[in-house]
Amino acid sequence: MTSELQRRLEEIRAQGLFRELTRVDSPQTSHALADGREMLNFSSNDYLGLANHPAVKESVIKAVEKYGAGSGASRLISGSLAPHHELEAALAEFKGTESALSFSSGYAAAAGVICALAGKDDIIVLDKLVHACIVDAARLTRAELRIFAHNDLDLLEDILKWCVKKTGAATAVRPRTLIITESVFSMDGDLAPLAEIVRLKEKYGAWLMVDEAHATGLYGPQGRGLAAEMDVSSNIEVQMGTLGKALGSAGGFIAGSKTLTSYLVNKARSFIFSTAPVPAAAAASLAGVRIAQSQEGSALRNHLWSLVGETKKVLRAKGWPVSETNSAILPLIVGEESGAVQAARDLKKLGIWIPAIRYPTVAKGAARLRLTLTAAHSHADIETLARALEQVQLKPADEKKTA
Ligand SMILES: *Cc1c(COP(=O)(O)O)cnc(C)c1O
Repeated sequence: MTSELQRRLEEIRAQGLFRELTRVDSPQTSHALADGREMLNFSSNDYLGLANHPAVKESVIKAVEKYGAGSGASRLISGSLAPHHELEAALAEFKGTESALSFSSGYAAAAGVICALAGKDDIIVLDKLVHACIVDAARLTRAELRIFAHNDLDLLEDILKWCVKKTGAATAVRPRTLIITESVFSMDGDLAPLAEIVRLKEKYGAWLMVDEAHATGLYGPQGRGLAAEMDVSSNIEVQMGTLGKALGSAGGFIAGSKTLTSYLVNKARSFIFSTAPVPAAAAASLAGVRIAQSQEGSALRNHLWSLVGETKKVLRAKGWPVSETNSAILPLIVGEESGAVQAARDLKKLGIWIPAIRYPTVAKGAARLRLTLTAAHSHADIETLARALEQVQLKPADEKKTA
């Protein structure tokens, strides 16, 4: 087996797609000890800087003292620990839904809910750029898959018309049509036109699931998400979020009706057949939600958006196409895989950590440095970044080629 796997790895290497882990010997914060040296970290999704926040750490320590380290079994088997219930009550209140259910990861949340809702007789309609966990789950359902070009409402409507024709009346019990999109896209940082998507799903009688992994904690009143900002939350049947990005720890959740979460407790296999997250994770996430909703949360968001504005100015001055959207994810699309890897390596030598993102995470030929900012960064960090960008070979891709 080893020689066969070595051959496969060589192929990956030859395409410039080989991946390796970078060991970090410090907390995940803006200055991380990576590969043995201090690096200015622009690789993390810890957008509000909560992963190393004193109040979050304090909650974790208290939860460990009170509930111990492990969670024993699946929540249906050995009892469902109080910290999970407290977290879910806080998440439901935060999202303005009747109920919420937490999972061990965002990946598990997507797998659990999608496979519980759709089966082989149904149709799942996806934006081309949705996260791998959604694609994997959709495939696992054996439902018929239809993909629309990224944020293309005309194509979405064409597909929905086709669905209605195929499935009969929009009100038919089954087959069902489930549309799934993200609100803030993970590798491009751009936003979905949620209001228009809601209008279409209502017109054609489909269900809608929105993954707010990169919006939770950042957008909308008190960081409730982009759906809340656009005032369409109550029209979205399945609202998904993660606990490992702006909320600072790890895990995922689904927010919606009490009927939905009760159905998931009965049908979501990644919830039923998996040991519950440790109580410390739930306690950390609960502290994260509370901070996101507080005065401090809005101060952190304001600081983050001011850093984003400043960084965009730096990038624009260097000729990078930068969108108007407020987003903590700033992709520097260089196109070729090996070019992105080399640039990331050169920046690392200068103490700047911006990961190269390549196929299969993004399309072939759309390799990029994915620069993310967090509230733990300072204005001085952005100046350091600007100086480093002067010193490396890094040019925007030919737009026609990556479009
Ligand atoms: C990170 C991410 C997930 C997965 O969440 P994890 O908690 O990391 O498993 C799901 N969807 C999107 C859009 C993501 O970016």
